[in-house]
Amino acid sequence: MPSPSRRPVFVSACLLGRECRYDGRSNRDLALEALLDARGEIAVPFCPEEHGELGTPRPAAWIERSGASAVLDGVERVITGDGVDVTQAFLRGALGALETCQRFGIRRAYLKERSPSCGVCQTHAAGALVDGPGVTALVLQREGIDCTGVEGRRE
Ligand code: SF4
Repeated sequence: MPSPSRRPVFVSACLLGRECRYDGRSNRDLALEALLDARGEIAVPFCPEEHGELGTPRPAAWIERSGASAVLDGVERVITGDGVDVTQAFLRGALGALETCQRFGIRRAYLKERSPSCGVCQTHAAGALVDGPGVTALVLQREGIDCTGVEGRRE
């Protein structure tokens, strides 16, 4: 439970050092930690893909063709490199992220760029980097949560 004196914000757990990336590594970002401190924000860490019970490590995955909007519309899937459909796990993760924001009254999120879940400006579709948000970022944005993409691994 975040301290009542500091504003809670949602943060991709890997940016805070949790080893929850698909390859079992983290994206710990010391510059983000300093920024949160300076802003009086307290992080609520969350990993949508672990919440979706994909486990760590796990196969890399991407949106099937165009982007997260098509996934939320039910016309595209999220698939692994071997073609396994992990769409429901990604949607469970996104819903869990939204529920976490609602529970803590969170209105701002710092999310790991380029992830098929957390990417804000860029994500992965059809096995390549594309402009647009990942599945969780889009769900949060549609609820009016201010999402900032974070590079990760900064000193
Ligand atoms: S980018 Fe998001 S889904 Fe991927 S490991 Fe980090 S928190 Fe989890």
